[in-house]
Amino acid sequence: TLTAEDAREMLMYIADKVIAKKPYLTEIDSAIGDGDHGIGMAGGMQKAKGKLENLDAQGNVYAVFETAGKAMLMSMGGASGVIFGSLYLAGAKGADAKTELTSADLAAMERKSLEAIKERGKAEVGDKTMVDALEPAVLAMEEYKDRPLLEMLKAAEEAARQGVENTKDYVAKFGRAKSLMERAIGHQDAGATSVWLIFQGMREFVE
Ligand code: ADP
Ligand code: MG
Ligand code: MG
Repeated sequence: TLTAEDAREMLMYIADKVIAKKPYLTEIDSAIGDGDHGIGMAGGMQKAKGKLENLDAQGNVYAVFETAGKAMLMSMGGASGVIFGSLYLAGAKGADAKTELTSADLAAMERKSLEAIKERGKAEVGDKTMVDALEPAVLAMEEYKDRPLLEMLKAAEEAARQGVENTKDYVAKFGRAKSLMERAIGHQDAGATSVWLIFQGMREFVE
């Protein structure tokens, strides 16, 4: 299970990981987007980390995710701030306080986040967005929800990685990449790559 302190340390670990990948994410977004994804993600993660550093979640795991998500939402701005803020925030907001999350709790939380992101952004699998990595990761979590956390996260990470790979085959329905049409084929989506890094970070932290 994941306690509030585990979650706090895990999200700070992920923040460091994404911040370190800023040039990589920017390079990916430069190929078919406007090249600011690394800057946006690193900035949001930096803010989240700042809030997490002195957070007293009073033992509530959901409060940790909510705090990090809010910080990203407020600091990143724009569509991607809402989308990536929601990844942590949407599933945690309004949930009854819990001192530790089971695999099933974490899967349910990410399901809620996915649904909120899809409702707001209107993207489906195949549209070359972060949903291409997040939806298969959530499905994997649901399949492994009765297994230990590490096993579930390994499956989610692998599903997200495969999802990123799949985005190379798609034309984009959103953002600047949309105007490239077929020319976007062969390039992976930046947001999907971030989702994969986040799930990889969860697995690495738990391992
Ligand atoms: P921007 O597109 O405003 O420059 P970023 O570069 O930070 O923002 O993020 C771009 C990423 O956001 C894309 O790679 C894609 O994964 C994700 N994205 C864009 N639009 C949507 C949407 N409608 N639904 C889900 N994800 C989206
Ligand atoms: Mg961009
Ligand atoms: Mg932009």
